[in-house]
Amino acid sequence: MSVIGIDFGNESCYVAAAKSGGIETLANDYSLRATPSFVAFDGKKRIIGVAAKNQQVTNMKNTVGGFKRLLGRKFNDPHVKHELTSIPARVEARGDGSIGIKVNYLGEDQHFGPEQLTAMLFTKLKETSAAAMQTQVNDCVIACPVFFTNAERKALLDAAQIAGLNVLRLMNETTATALAYGFYKNDLFEDKPRNVIFVDFGHSSLQASACAFTKGKLKMLASTWDQIGGRDIDLALGDYFAKEFQDRYKINAKTNARANLRLLTEIEKLKKQMSANSTKLPLNIECFLDDIDVSSSMQRSQMEELCAPVLQRVEQTFKRLLAESKLQLDDIHSVEIVGGSSRIPSVKQLIEQVFNKPASTTLNQDEAVSRGAALQCAIMSPAVRVREFGVTDIQNYAVKVLWDSEGSAAPGEIEIFPQYHASPFSRLLTINRKGPFNVSIVYGQQVPYPDQTIGVWKVKDVKPTERGEGQDVKLKVRINNNGIVLISSATLVEKKEAEEAAAAAEQAASEEKPGEPTNNAGEPADGQQEGSDKKKKASKATELPLECTTHGFSPVDLGNYTQQESKMIGNDQKETERIDAKNALEEFVYDMRNKLQGGALERFVVEAEREAIVAQLNDLENWLYEDGEDCEREIYTSRLQALHQKTDPIKVRASDYEQGPAAFDELKNSI
Ligand code: ATP
Ligand code: MG
Repeated sequence: MSVIGIDFGNESCYVAAAKSGGIETLANDYSLRATPSFVAFDGKKRIIGVAAKNQQVTNMKNTVGGFKRLLGRKFNDPHVKHELTSIPARVEARGDGSIGIKVNYLGEDQHFGPEQLTAMLFTKLKETSAAAMQTQVNDCVIACPVFFTNAERKALLDAAQIAGLNVLRLMNETTATALAYGFYKNDLFEDKPRNVIFVDFGHSSLQASACAFTKGKLKMLASTWDQIGGRDIDLALGDYFAKEFQDRYKINAKTNARANLRLLTEIEKLKKQMSANSTKLPLNIECFLDDIDVSSSMQRSQMEELCAPVLQRVEQTFKRLLAESKLQLDDIHSVEIVGGSSRIPSVKQLIEQVFNKPASTTLNQDEAVSRGAALQCAIMSPAVRVREFGVTDIQNYAVKVLWDSEGSAAPGEIEIFPQYHASPFSRLLTINRKGPFNVSIVYGQQVPYPDQTIGVWKVKDVKPTERGEGQDVKLKVRINNNGIVLISSATLVEKKEAEEAAAAAEQAASEEKPGEPTNNAGEPADGQQEGSDKKKKASKATELPLECTTHGFSPVDLGNYTQQESKMIGNDQKETERIDAKNALEEFVYDMRNKLQGGALERFVVEAEREAIVAQLNDLENWLYEDGEDCEREIYTSRLQALHQKTDPIKVRASDYEQGPAAFDELKNSI
């Protein structure tokens, strides 16, 4: 069994595998390490990754990319409305308000949600890994943006489950990068932390994080981010060229989705060239619109002017990190950059301006996230043996717990985790109640999601003491390995007898005040606050049932989607086998005809038979382009078999002849 790390980017994915010899980034079916985050559909099958992106221009309505940023969201979310402007496929609201991306698949219109499309991409990555590693892959660590909220993280986990992946951890992208950096450093000290800034500037997002490394450990300090990326630069340049073409050629690229896509593709190429070259560079597109060839040019300084608003936001994000990490410039050891857009020279200049350090490229800019995720997976999985490396991540947003009133007991709230609190972590919260009550966990600050609520937990079976007094309910509030905040357990601390109850109350008061959280020493010491024997005698702890409403699919929906995905995998497999059978027949027809007409087999068959077979091959060739273009696999295989029956004896005669004297000798000896 092998373990992998997945970097699911908005534009492309990388998969790295941990082996005993080290970490390796895996190549896909096109021998490329980047797998575009695209899924396409045609009449018979799904097309995923490189092949999907390659056919995008000719199958625009049924090719979907950019769905990472739709995960866990509803159709009417303003963020979704914005994202949809760059997705040419038809998108509708489904009955429950979720996003339905409409494509034509298997001859009919079907809706798929972003989670399903992500699962399809994961299926592809799983297949890529299995092929590269020659073994089944199940355990993985998936990287996700540091700014992903509860709904988005749940959606990503749901997608992984639909694809049959076992996620050991959802890891923040910059934390994965930090691990890829720190794991191999053997010049870290126990007592003097090395503070490194990691900047990931990708296709749709910018993330910057500060991290403190000590020997064998890393601790994230703070993160800032903005939802800007390379695509915003492409769009800014797109507006400029579209206007120029409108003025010069009187054509409007924006009215034609295909032309717009071609323009953005050429702009992206130009943008990459401008990163390496500051002189004027050409942009030419033949037959762009109305058979008109267009040409223009641009140079780096002009691009920087056009993208000034984006660059300004980049600068602000860096400055915010400097302030929020509370690091002084002299405290910073280095600034490491990853992500495709970090190659832009002006971004490197901004790093130097803000952090007073040149941008450093110690890491592989494209692969670092996946490699860090693979390392984390290796550390967590028993399947591979690697050295330990401690990773303390952070909770990116402040989190509050609110409980409602019950009887005469008043409602209350508390900030249970301030922003940048260590993660994973558990805290105990004691609330005194006589009956069942509700607890909500909400974000305590503005988050990039329309709903601040993480979830609502109904704490059931709470009852008063025999004297009708309230009892202590201990809630364990936890940030888990995936950066998801939840109530992992609720315990009723029943006071048994008056005398013992008094002792218990006294002890409880010294440990924690009602309504105030108690630090639990983090992982894995969950619940050890309860450890005193004396107290256990005085009170009885009963686990209470919890009913939770939070984001993510219900088990029933998840089951249905999983089933649907395996059906589609089966269908794709069947289709691949069908195409392979057709190709095998076609190949045989060409090959045999060449061999029979002037080739190696010509002299081993009598003229009349040869002509008959060639005629049959010609017929088959025509059939393959007409009636036989789209048949079941069995039809191709049975035709191939029939051909073999006819031609195998010829091959046997030829090979007998080739072996000539030796075969003859063998025959003589056996007599
Ligand atoms: P995200 O992290 O936002 O989810 P991603 O991980 O898919 O997206 P990356 O692969 O890190 O994104 O980066 C892709 C972006 O980098 C694209 O916008 C691409 O145009 C840009 N890019 C790649 N190489 C260069 C370059 N040499 N110069 C400028 N931009 C580049
Ligand atoms: Mg990325």
